[in-house]
Amino acid sequence: GRCVVAVDGPSGSGKSTVSRRLASGIDARYLDTGAMYRAITWAVLRSGVDPADAESVAKVAGEVELRIGTDPQGYGVTVDGTAVDKDIRGPEVTGAVSAVSAVPAVRALLVQRQREMIANAGRIVVEGRDIGSVVAPDADLKVYLTASESARAKRRSTEDAADVAATAADLARRDRLDSTRTADPLRQADDAVVLDTTELGIDEVVARLRDLLTE
Ligand code: C5P
Repeated sequence: GRCVVAVDGPSGSGKSTVSRRLASGIDARYLDTGAMYRAITWAVLRSGVDPADAESVAKVAGEVELRIGTDPQGYGVTVDGTAVDKDIRGPEVTGAVSAVSAVPAVRALLVQRQREMIANAGRIVVEGRDIGSVVAPDADLKVYLTASESARAKRRSTEDAADVAATAADLARRDRLDSTRTADPLRQADDAVVLDTTELGIDEVVARLRDLLTE
């Protein structure tokens, strides 16, 4: 039957791994909304528009054709027919995505797309920053994942110390931008289950969520 799980939290909290595994385990679709904001950011950069120019950013967002799959085992993201899966994880997009996702017109557009995809899938795990609070306030289960800053930075970087420090700085910058923006800032939904993944293994988190779903 219908089952919508909202997974929110800051970068490096384990959202993607947890969401994908949970989706596979309960035979649901999976939607990575961060990839949608990244894809729009990729289009903005490609078009030479300044990510801080909200009006031009909104125009690009309204013109591009964004497609994203919902298979938890591997989904593709395309912008105007170009596969962007790799590029949207690069430093250029990561550096500009918070500015682009702060534009209200971009959020309005993507939130609408996300709601349509959720309605079509029926059974889906959706990860992002505003899923439980804005996109799917009626979700069957809302989860908010957290982890210490250092744990998050370690997960997002390779092993060497310099890289961890740079990643930590970048995460802190994005978290600050994402939680202080006016439009749909990152926040915990009042009815979300909060799980700290600093000490919990991925399998434990997924098992915990499956328990919550069957309760
Ligand atoms: O999850 P990920 O790190 O890929 O998200 C990239 C960025 O997209 C976030 O830093 C945030 O600025 C934006 N985002 C958002 N709302 C979402 C998902 C992502 O604003 N639901």
